[in-house]
Amino acid sequence: MSYQIIDGKAISGQIKEECRIKAEQYREQGIEITLAVVQVGSDPASSVYVRNKKRACEECGIKSLSFELPIETTEKELLTLIEKLNADTSVNGILVQLPLPEQIDEDKVIQAIDMKKDVDGFHPMSAGALCTGQKGFVSCTPAGIIELLKRSGIEIAGKECVVIGRSNIVGKPAALLLLRENGTVTVCHSRTKNLKEITRRADILVAAIGKPKFITADYVKEGAAVIDVGIHRNENGKLCGDVDFDSVAPKCSAITPVPGGVGPMTIAMLMSNCIASVDLSREIC
Ligand code: NAP
Repeated sequence: MSYQIIDGKAISGQIKEECRIKAEQYREQGIEITLAVVQVGSDPASSVYVRNKKRACEECGIKSLSFELPIETTEKELLTLIEKLNADTSVNGILVQLPLPEQIDEDKVIQAIDMKKDVDGFHPMSAGALCTGQKGFVSCTPAGIIELLKRSGIEIAGKECVVIGRSNIVGKPAALLLLRENGTVTVCHSRTKNLKEITRRADILVAAIGKPKFITADYVKEGAAVIDVGIHRNENGKLCGDVDFDSVAPKCSAITPVPGGVGPMTIAMLMSNCIASVDLSREIC
């Protein structure tokens, strides 16, 4: 079967360009969109993510403010900074790079961010808004999955959608978004029985398991669209996903590669959330 490779790099490029145009329009109205990026410590992986986010801001004409705090920062100090950023009317979005050092309670920090500035979409109020169909920020990776499907011409309404993984940042919001798009959604996890039987029903299969090349051809229905959220580096330093691309792709109608699939979408959707913050901050009650 010939399959479509869903080009996350190209689609994320389109989204960032749309963001750049909107940011410019806002600037002409005297509105400068500003993202505060907070990093505690200097974990190398976090530093790469932070650098990429700031670079995307530059590309899109979004101002980024950098707060680089030492590894020994206390929870109270971080919460004080967040209060200050919440109160600062020139700041539209607040992003705290995770993970945080162990002396800081991540949940407390996420909950301290004003929901109107929660561009990562991790606040329980944002998650609740998604669940109940209210206005709010949607976390970036799951929002990126929906954009990949829509912009590749893959219809979601009425389709059997199976999400493997139920994390708060990927699996659960991805399932809720597919439901919002009128998919018929099943969520699987480590305690699911007969996983293959369920995944083989999927027209759209989303793999967010965290296990390299876990999904092989026998998990996939002929003609399915497969979205691979996983990111792993193998022993040779090469990136791969949760899906065994080489065996699965020939069975699919469409599939995301790793790298170049879901990965680039996360930052693009962060930019999109920063743009949306101007209207959302007025609409969220
Ligand atoms: P996570 O919190 O570890 O969640 C993994 C989920 O997979 C859990 O719900 C777990 O079930 C389920 N699972 C584990 N083993 C399973 C099995 N054998 N059968 C069925 N389900 C199983 O991971 P995550 O944060 O959601 O991330 C998932 C993957 O996406 C990771 O590779 C991560 O690096 C990647 N990721 C990529 C991006 C991106 O930008 N592309 C962003 C975020 C994450 P239980 O709940 O029962 O434990």
